[in-house]
Amino acid sequence: MLKSIPSNVPEDDIRSDLAAHNVQAIRISQPTKTDKTTRTVLTKYPIFVISLSPVSDIRKVLQIHKLCHCIVKWEKLRNSRPVNQCYNCQAFGHSSKYCGKPSQCVKCDQPHATKDSLKLTSTPPKCVNCKGEHPANYTGCPQFQQHLLYAQNSSQHQRHARKRKPTPSPLLPYCNFPSLRTPPPQNRPPQTWAQIAAQAPNSSNQQSLSSTVESIKSILTLFDSYKLSTLLRSPALQLQTMNDPITKIVATVDTVLACLSSSP
Ligand SMILES: [Zn+2]
Ligand SMILES: [Zn+2]
Ligand SMILES: [Zn+2]
Repeated sequence: MLKSIPSNVPEDDIRSDLAAHNVQAIRISQPTKTDKTTRTVLTKYPIFVISLSPVSDIRKVLQIHKLCHCIVKWEKLRNSRPVNQCYNCQAFGHSSKYCGKPSQCVKCDQPHATKDSLKLTSTPPKCVNCKGEHPANYTGCPQFQQHLLYAQNSSQHQRHARKRKPTPSPLLPYCNFPSLRTPPPQNRPPQTWAQIAAQAPNSSNQQSLSSTVESIKSILTLFDSYKLSTLLRSPALQLQTMNDPITKIVATVDTVLACLSSSP
C-alpha cells in the first residue's frame, strides 16, 4: 500500500515509475468514496493499493521513497482479504451466514444467485457494488478498496488502543516506603521493673485495652451474671485446692465448657 501520494496521480504514472525501479505492478487500485445512489466518485483517497509480481523483492520496493516526484511511504497489507463480503448479496460487512437479503449475482448486477446466472462469458461482468466491469468480489473494486481502508484503519486503531492500555503503576520507589529498620536503641539507664510499671502507660495501648474490656462487658451482658457467678464459685474453690497446673487447666476448661453449655 502506497501512502502520502497525491490522489490525482494517474495509476499509469505510478506503474511506469515503479517499472523504472525494476518493480512490476500487476494491479494498482485506489480506494474511493462513492455516492451510494448515483455511484459517482466523491473522493479519491491519497492511497494506492499495489499488487506486485511474485518475483518482486519486497525489501527493495520498501526502499523506494520517491515516486512520481513525491516522497512516498509504503505499508504492507497484512491480510489479502480482511474485508468481510457476503457471498449471497455481495455487500460488505457481513457474511452470507447472517444474510437476510435476496441473492445477488457476483458476475452480473442482476438479483439472482450466482449459480443461476445466465451471463455469457463473452459479455463483460458487472459489479453490483460499483457498476464497474468486474465481478463483485474483485479486490480491485473501489468499493472493496474503501472497505479495505476502513479495515486497515480500524485494525491500526485497535493496535494503538492496545498500546495505550493503562499499564499497572510501577512499583513505588523505595524512598516512599517507611523505613523498616527499628530506631537504634537509645542509651537509657537500666530500669527496674517497678520503674517501668510506674511509667505512664502508652495511650494507644490503654485505648485498645479499654475497648477490649468494653467488648468483654458487652459479651457478659448476654449471660445471666448471677447464674454464672454461682456456677463459677465452686469450681473456683476447687481450683484453689489443686496444686498440679495441668489438673488446674483441665478443670478450668471443663468449667468453661459446662458454663457455656448451661448458659442461655
Ligand atoms: Zn448479504
Ligand atoms: Zn448473474
Ligand atoms: Zn466493483
